[in-house]
Amino acid sequence: MDATPYGRFVALVLFDQALTQITKQRQSIEKQCEALEEKRTELMSRYEATALELKNEIKHRGELELSLGTLAQEKQRIEHKIDTTRNAKEYEALQQELESVVTRQNADDERLIIVWQRIEQFEGALKSAEHEMVDALKSVEKELEEKRALLSDLERLFSDKERLRPAQREGVLEQWLSMYESMRAALIPNPAVTLAGSSCSECGVIVPRTDVASVEKHQFVFCQQCHRILFDRHAVE
Ligand SMILES: [Zn+2]
Repeated sequence: MDATPYGRFVALVLFDQALTQITKQRQSIEKQCEALEEKRTELMSRYEATALELKNEIKHRGELELSLGTLAQEKQRIEHKIDTTRNAKEYEALQQELESVVTRQNADDERLIIVWQRIEQFEGALKSAEHEMVDALKSVEKELEEKRALLSDLERLFSDKERLRPAQREGVLEQWLSMYESMRAALIPNPAVTLAGSSCSECGVIVPRTDVASVEKHQFVFCQQCHRILFDRHAVE
């Protein structure tokens, strides 16, 4: 490791960049976990929606069967009256009443057939949804488990590395350190950046030749556009 104050400064910046990289990886994996959790919820709610439709149709079937039972009793009652009446007017009224009951029975019968078909459909859909859901859930859970393991590895790596930071600060000139740390405290992303040829690698502005020369002489130079510290990474190579 370069023991010059400048070399120590560059080493600190690179160390911090590695920490930032770990944080970015963590954030990206956290997002992937969130997406997987959403997918899991969606899978379950799709299954539950089919199950609810089936439940509703079964309820509907029960209602229709009950109604048909009542209509059959009604029909029996009217037929008995028709058999016993001697009044022509009443006979006529009863015949009409009977006709209306039979019409309602036929309508309910037709509905019942449709409901039975729908129940069969939903039962089939539910069964295949269940298979699909179980398989899809398994793979989502497996992926989640892997990502979470990766996440805890990265968290461990981060905290292990972060513990070394005080030692990493040693040997850096106090005024450089305070400048750099205050930029970090202001949450400026990448407060110190390298030159890409003669441009700032962060904002791309062309750095004046005198500034490039100063960077090469390991002096403290700021980018005139993005105000970041420009440093020479070759100082630690
Ligand atoms: Zn810049």
